[in-house]
Amino acid sequence: MAKLADLDWLTYESRVGEGDAVILLPIGAIEQHGPHMSMNPDVLIPEAISVGVARLLANALVAHPIAYGYKSQVKSGGGNFFPGTTCINGKTLIDTIKDVVVAYARHGNRKFVLVNGHYENSMFIVEGIDLALEHLRHEGIEAQVVVLSYWDFVTQDTIETVFPDGFTGWDVEHGGVLETSLMLHLHPELVNMDKVMDHAPATFPPYDVFPSDPSWVPASGTLSSARNATAEFGELLMAVCVEGIAAAVREHFSAPR
Ligand SMILES: [Zn+2]
Repeated sequence: MAKLADLDWLTYESRVGEGDAVILLPIGAIEQHGPHMSMNPDVLIPEAISVGVARLLANALVAHPIAYGYKSQVKSGGGNFFPGTTCINGKTLIDTIKDVVVAYARHGNRKFVLVNGHYENSMFIVEGIDLALEHLRHEGIEAQVVVLSYWDFVTQDTIETVFPDGFTGWDVEHGGVLETSLMLHLHPELVNMDKVMDHAPATFPPYDVFPSDPSWVPASGTLSSARNATAEFGELLMAVCVEGIAAAVREHFSAPR
């Protein structure tokens, strides 16, 4: 069983007591992903990838995800003004990550992998890790953390297969072929391809404005069309991410330090 919170506490205690457990912590967001998909892909995708990775490692457990993420931004997530998009402040996210990592370390865990599913979280995760490690050092605990965003493990070959007409970049993939394909593979009941709104990839000026201007965002809430998404692409994307992340984690934690 890979999901940590599904275990009873005594089983968890003995798994940690074996030493060398790797804790995978998915971090996502609740955010609209267009009219064709549920609002939880940024949580469900990194959690599923983490479970896949855990199955390939000797002693790994997937912590319950941090489901709420930093505020959706117009140019990467459509913006923070859509009904349903439910975000937290940067300092709340930093503190949540710090507290959760510190708590798992106090149970005896020393190896962590933070698996990000929502671009806007990125530097707040880094800050949470930094504060957690500093805090733990004062308690005499030295922990190691790997942090990553799953889409960085999609290989060039896979990009060419999934985006045969050309790849416009991860920033406009919000609600597009990447996330929709993964959701069709993992949770087809949460996707309705009949509701996909087909449109050209969004284009933005090289700056942001605040307050955000909703007219910058396609009416769908997606930043590119999911029309070409398929479950087969999702299966392929899942496999490259799981294999790539498992290899990176194995390499980091087995390397002498
Ligand atoms: Zn997303």
